[in-house]
Amino acid sequence: MKLRLTLLLMCALGLLGVERPPGLGDVVDVRHWSYDDYTRVVVEFDRPVQTEGLQRLAADPGADRPERLYLDLEGIWVGRSYSEGVAVGDGLLQAIRLGQNTLRRVRLVIDLERYSHHRVLTLAHPHRIVVDVYGKRGGAEAEIGAAGLPAGLRPIRTVVVDPGHGGRDPGAIGIGRLQEKKVTLRVAKALGRALEGYGFQVVYTRQDDRTLTLEERTAFAESAEGDLFISVHANAAPRRSVHGVETYYLDQNHERHALNLAARENGIPRGQVNVLQETLAKLHMEELSPRSHQLAQAVQKRLVTGLPRKLRPEDLGVKKGPFYVLFLSNMPAILVEVGFLTNKSEAKRLRDTDYLDRLGAQLAAGVNAYSDEQKTRLAAGGPR
Ligand SMILES: [Zn+2]
Repeated sequence: MKLRLTLLLMCALGLLGVERPPGLGDVVDVRHWSYDDYTRVVVEFDRPVQTEGLQRLAADPGADRPERLYLDLEGIWVGRSYSEGVAVGDGLLQAIRLGQNTLRRVRLVIDLERYSHHRVLTLAHPHRIVVDVYGKRGGAEAEIGAAGLPAGLRPIRTVVVDPGHGGRDPGAIGIGRLQEKKVTLRVAKALGRALEGYGFQVVYTRQDDRTLTLEERTAFAESAEGDLFISVHANAAPRRSVHGVETYYLDQNHERHALNLAARENGIPRGQVNVLQETLAKLHMEELSPRSHQLAQAVQKRLVTGLPRKLRPEDLGVKKGPFYVLFLSNMPAILVEVGFLTNKSEAKRLRDTDYLDRLGAQLAAGVNAYSDEQKTRLAAGGPR
């Protein structure tokens, strides 16, 4: 049936047998992940794509078409590569289809089974579009997560530890060519070990030097049914005197000065950072932001007070930042910048594996403190 519709569309446009015009980009891959209350669709391209927002179409029983979402992608050629569509069948989405809508435009169509809302994000490195479709699944998959409550409102069992950057992406490079990706991995491993010591389950997005996309990082978190997401980074600044630690959480009202940092951590130019590109999932964020804020405060507090006095880093505070890795995480999530690679004395410390292990241990103590607060809140049954 899907094949027939696509063929009809292509015949109507007289595209069968038409030569591909020059100068168009290609669809590199189509991927999807199914989670408790949403499905993530990622379409990757070999160049940036322009799009006008996602449209929603009601079901058309006469034409045997389900309710669907569609998005037009300008300057792309797909020809008949995806004419049969990608079957999903997870109780939320039926299928993902891509067809040549005009000579220079591809239409992405998502056939829906259920739907409540969606969000769309455009990302770079590689160029891709992420569509999250939310809804209550039909059939046997309608059960909610193992703990019976959404992440953020249940006791904390599993912590997802995300060492920033890796592989082809070294992150910031500091004094003496010190690479951020090495610092983050060491701190993250120490954090994970200490968390296990407190009795938490730990899932790492990476444990070696490999390249990961943002949605791969968050896919680990979701599939592990993580309760918290901690992304570890190290900072850089044009002013070499700047030093200290800061912890970010996602909030709709991010601070203006966080944009430059977010651009670097997101791997795209500052002008393209707009965390609310198109979202109807704001309610979800409003629910998670206060949890993330509390987590950020607990972690930052331990980072700046937990170490012996002469090792204590400067307290740059808890801040709001538009980080995509936080935006894509459907659980309380923070991003910690453990120090500046561009400051002479801090860079020296960040080369010291013993110091990095200590930072990891303090991060874990902060998570544990937050977990205790959460238990108290849940036991009291009061405002969470
Ligand atoms: Zn970073």
